[in-house]
Amino acid sequence: MSTQPEVLAELDEKYQRYLGIPRHLIPWYPGIDEELCIGCKECMNFCQDEVYAFNEETHKVYVANPWHCQVYCQSCTHACPRDAISFPDRREVKARIRELREHYPPA
Ligand code: SF4
Ligand code: SF4
Repeated sequence: MSTQPEVLAELDEKYQRYLGIPRHLIPWYPGIDEELCIGCKECMNFCQDEVYAFNEETHKVYVANPWHCQVYCQSCTHACPRDAISFPDRREVKARIRELREHYPPA
């Protein structure tokens, strides 16, 4: 996923920051195991933030808007009948957010 600054400008304002930290610097978003995915769209229909989209060519779902994913949310994993969705290690992401806090202190 791109972490270039221009990514941020393309995001809807509500997705641009998490607790004041530029959202694209926080590595939290789902991954889909393409081998397991059967393209049922359960995850896509479940997520209210349009993180997922359907690929008409492969007939599988992919992560179209990773920075829309709510930090620490993992709800859609329960919607997947194939256990094809995974997330990063929460402790590692928490540690990263702590580091970022030094550069982006709370307002
Ligand atoms: S974890 Fe939550 S916000 Fe992220 S893709 Fe799944 S349902 Fe959407
Ligand atoms: S719910 Fe699981 S199997 Fe269904 S489209 Fe999403 S990732 Fe693929």
